[in-house]
Amino acid sequence: MATIEEKIYNEDNIDVTTCKCPNCKGTSYFDPKTQKMKCEYCGSIFDMPKTEVNFVIERNLSELISRGSVWNEAEVYRCESCGAKQIIENQNVAHVCAFCGTKNIVKTEELPGLKPQGVVPFKIDKEKAGQLAIKYVKKKFYAPKKFKQSAKAENLHGIYNPVFTFDAYTTSFYKGQLGKNYVTYRYVDGRRIADQRTRYFYIGGTQDEHFDDLLVQASSNISMDVIRQLEPFPTGNAIEYRPEYLLGYSASTYNKEGEDCWQECQRLMKERIERAILKKYDYDVKVSLNIQTNFSNQTYKYILVPIYVGHYTYKNKLYNFFVNGFNGRVAGKTPVSRGKVFFTVLIVLLIIVAFVLLGYLL
Ligand SMILES: [Zn+2]
Ligand SMILES: [Zn+2]
Repeated sequence: MATIEEKIYNEDNIDVTTCKCPNCKGTSYFDPKTQKMKCEYCGSIFDMPKTEVNFVIERNLSELISRGSVWNEAEVYRCESCGAKQIIENQNVAHVCAFCGTKNIVKTEELPGLKPQGVVPFKIDKEKAGQLAIKYVKKKFYAPKKFKQSAKAENLHGIYNPVFTFDAYTTSFYKGQLGKNYVTYRYVDGRRIADQRTRYFYIGGTQDEHFDDLLVQASSNISMDVIRQLEPFPTGNAIEYRPEYLLGYSASTYNKEGEDCWQECQRLMKERIERAILKKYDYDVKVSLNIQTNFSNQTYKYILVPIYVGHYTYKNKLYNFFVNGFNGRVAGKTPVSRGKVFFTVLIVLLIIVAFVLLGYLL
């Protein structure tokens, strides 16, 4: 808001416990543009109390099993309409569900679980996120023209989404059999006939891989698929969690335990190890591949990453979209124009028919 005079305050005149505006005692929120606190009412900008910033230290995986500190100062709210669970630090704000837009949210007795070690603060503001969401629609080829022209970013909310990231060193011993295709020729009545054959060979050895900050989604409010589309999040630069970051935002609770996320992460690592092994060989068929992997120096971080959630409305239906609050990447579903899909299928079919006819003619 350009009309409001922005005053700069320093630490001395700030109420540390509530982070109220030192000028008018109004409610403040974390402002992505200045990376400082900003008053909702008078626009004053001020530093968070105690401003030194610490980077998050990764913890040994064994601590995850024994449980870290509990996040007891935060409260969990549940949406009665869509079931999404959210953590809200600031009780003065009007509560609207970030996922479905209704005001049907109620406080629960639940605890939010593990306290996040770190947070990647919002870097782009809400206005910019809305613009990016509109730009995203314009690039969607199959979206109906009417929708592209009228799409609005509605009910836009900044949400901190919980993720676990894992590091590990791995050594894998593997054994297997691969095959490479080749072609031999024989002549029958003067005509050359090609035969495809496969030469099989055995492989074996060791493969070392190091993984750094592999991310696993811990909340079911946003799917892993969407998170992958929004990546990367600069999790390596996450800073120590402080409740002030949540002012003006909400956070999703995790509903996947750390141990389950580690299991999922191990599967991801194993997939990548297999790909790295196979990349070393020139082959066409995989007959068998047995891999034994030892993990060492496993560490984890439990952190919050910034995502804007909003929706478009088209023909009375809501379409959720998500914007990475750090790099501005957008993911989400948009309505599909049946006419455009029909014409694409038609054109593809015509091309196939043309090729078949061409084959006959030759
Ligand atoms: Zn103020
Ligand atoms: Zn809801």
